[in-house]
Amino acid sequence: MWKTIFFSFDPTLAQLLPSAYRQGTFEFRYRGPQSVKHLIESLGIPHTEIGNILCDGKPVTLDYLPQDGDPLQVHLIRYPEPTSDTPEPRFILDNHLGRLTAHLRMLGLDAMYRNDFQDSELIRCALSEGRILLTRDRRLLMHKSLQQGCLLYSLDPLAQLYQVVERYHLLHWIRPFQRCMRCNHPLQPVPKEAILDRLLPLTRLYYDEFSRCPACDQIYWKGSHYERMERFIRQLQRGEKDML
Ligand SMILES: [Zn+2]
Repeated sequence: MWKTIFFSFDPTLAQLLPSAYRQGTFEFRYRGPQSVKHLIESLGIPHTEIGNILCDGKPVTLDYLPQDGDPLQVHLIRYPEPTSDTPEPRFILDNHLGRLTAHLRMLGLDAMYRNDFQDSELIRCALSEGRILLTRDRRLLMHKSLQQGCLLYSLDPLAQLYQVVERYHLLHWIRPFQRCMRCNHPLQPVPKEAILDRLLPLTRLYYDEFSRCPACDQIYWKGSHYERMERFIRQLQRGEKDML
């Protein structure tokens, strides 16, 4: 039996719809019974992006089966401001997101990444370790068992970072320069004397504070890139999106 419903989407979500549906409310016809989750995903929007859904002003869940004539308003997911009980978000990144990975690790955030993960491994890891999957692949986010994911709207790594920082309120958790950029492991301070033979002469001369990755043995110090990164973090904190 055919049903007609009236969809309207938050503007961010609307840009994911087929072009004929991007302006305001539209009529949608389908053959019944289908969950609102299935209907929205069939229009190209992964369930990980969906927040509140209102039917005639009243909230409904993703498994709601719309009735003929229902007006459905779909909002982008919004995460509440973190409290002291909120666990720190941890991420797993899809292949080709190496630069976003580097930015997240620079901020001290837990960002798992390899450039050769299979889709099934990404999903498995996201589920077993409670990680949020970051990707530009909508199909991947439509995997039915996936609970937490984020569709990246931009191709630009800094715009992607800004989107993730904003969505998950990451300024609450940043600890800059405390995570290995190579392998994601937390760094530990190391006395200069212990690594003296591994330093180039100028580094030995100008720097006194060092940290070391216990997993891959990489050495870090606050070199020339440090100030640039600090400036970048201050801009993030001030919400100066355009300056990034
Ligand atoms: Zn490491």
